[in-house]
Amino acid sequence: MSIMIGLEVHCQLNTESKLFCSCEAYPKDAQPNSSTCEICLGYPGTKPVINKKAIDHVISIGLALGCRINPESYFSRKTYFYPDMPKNYQITQYEVPIASEGSIEVNGMKIRIRRVHLEEDPARILYADGNLETASHVLVDYNRAGTPLAEIVTEPDMKSPKEARAFLEKLSTILEYLKVYDQSKGASLRVDANISVDGGERAEVKNVTGFENVEKALNYEAVRQQNIVRLGRKVERETRHFDEVAKTTRTLRKKEFEEDYGYIFDPDLPVLDISDEWKSKIEKGMPELPDTMVKRFSKQYGIGDYDAKVIVYTGRDFASFFEDVCRIYSKPKAASRWMINYLLKSLNWRSERISQSRASPDTFSELLAMIDKGEITERYAKEIIKEYVDTGFRPSDIASRSGPKPSLQGLRDIVKKVIKDNTKAASEFAAGKNDALAYLIGAVLKETGKRGDPKEIAKMIKKEISNASVAQ
Ligand code: ADP
Ligand code: MG
Ligand code: ZN
Repeated sequence: MSIMIGLEVHCQLNTESKLFCSCEAYPKDAQPNSSTCEICLGYPGTKPVINKKAIDHVISIGLALGCRINPESYFSRKTYFYPDMPKNYQITQYEVPIASEGSIEVNGMKIRIRRVHLEEDPARILYADGNLETASHVLVDYNRAGTPLAEIVTEPDMKSPKEARAFLEKLSTILEYLKVYDQSKGASLRVDANISVDGGERAEVKNVTGFENVEKALNYEAVRQQNIVRLGRKVERETRHFDEVAKTTRTLRKKEFEEDYGYIFDPDLPVLDISDEWKSKIEKGMPELPDTMVKRFSKQYGIGDYDAKVIVYTGRDFASFFEDVCRIYSKPKAASRWMINYLLKSLNWRSERISQSRASPDTFSELLAMIDKGEITERYAKEIIKEYVDTGFRPSDIASRSGPKPSLQGLRDIVKKVIKDNTKAASEFAAGKNDALAYLIGAVLKETGKRGDPKEIAKMIKKEISNASVAQ
């Protein structure tokens, strides 16, 4: 059965103050309801004053997604009655948004963007002693009320939950590169996911956070709807809620109960005129976007498209770490291999971004140089990375704790001793068994505290064993 998915993504924009007042947008460690004023609490007689930075951000999102920037757009009031919205309407854009009709490519598929508009975030509702369905009462935190949101609406172009997730991963990276969205300040992306099967009615799963959750919610919905169709029944148009614990979706409201929002133009806000000069100023100030960076990395550093993609899409901080390493250390291919295969794994294991971690381009480059000089084995380097990410100690300090690198003569003595202690393995190797060599190298490295170049050690072992057989 064919699946159609369209997403509405709400991105909390990176501004100092809220959309229509001067309250702090992302107050740190603030008490609930402390970052509020008459405007974001919707007192009668107050008037909104728009935050220009938020408009700048939506223009740059529109441009990055290949949209047309509308020279005139409007603000409207979306009327509904709910405690998260004290004015009883939300200021949003309805008829004409700031940006329309763009697209991005995700794994070779074109996903059309219908619109990008600006709106205010409602307050946060906390279900005090349960969830949406079981809580006996709710708490409301108006610190979030009035935070600027960009809403990005796609056409229903995605054909599987997996594709929807890939789209979100790509979109969020673009938003991060544009610096319009800063997770470290507590900003988040919330998704309304629309899905239908075989041309039937669609369900909209509201307010899902986390891309894995979006994929799970959509998978659940796909199966649910396909089962209904298989039974010869019709899927109803409805709004559903995703239960993060049970990983299932449930009816929130049916189409016939869906509110009529009664949009009207907001008389308090003027028509938004975006001149060509404004647009081109934003365009000129736009940073390099991920896809352009992938092409540049692949060419400039000769690391290939796959590695370039992993580095760039891991995040802006990871990409600039790579470039910083390449300024100090001259082998980009090795840098990329060690960053992707080992550094990134250790970071992921700690759920840490590189910018929050103790790793630095300086000390990481030092580690790579130590491998090149044969001061540490690759295997030991992998262990050092784990400790390095955990503690931030210099790789050279971690390595020197296991003693200085043995001298050539010292290494030869250790090789001799190991061969004497492991006569069985030595004679097996002499008889042509290669596994025995690996075993002997391991035994030598154990003695040296993992210091010494395995290739050099192998050479010494071979030499010692062949000398011994000549002597016999
Ligand atoms: P409405 O205006 O009723 O909210 P829209 O047509 O504006 O509906 O679409 C809202 C979202 O739903 C968009 O992201 C769109 O891509 C998606 N959508 C529309 N029709 C379908 C469908 N048949 N299946 C899945 N998603 C859909
Ligand atoms: Mg909607
Ligand atoms: Zn305020």
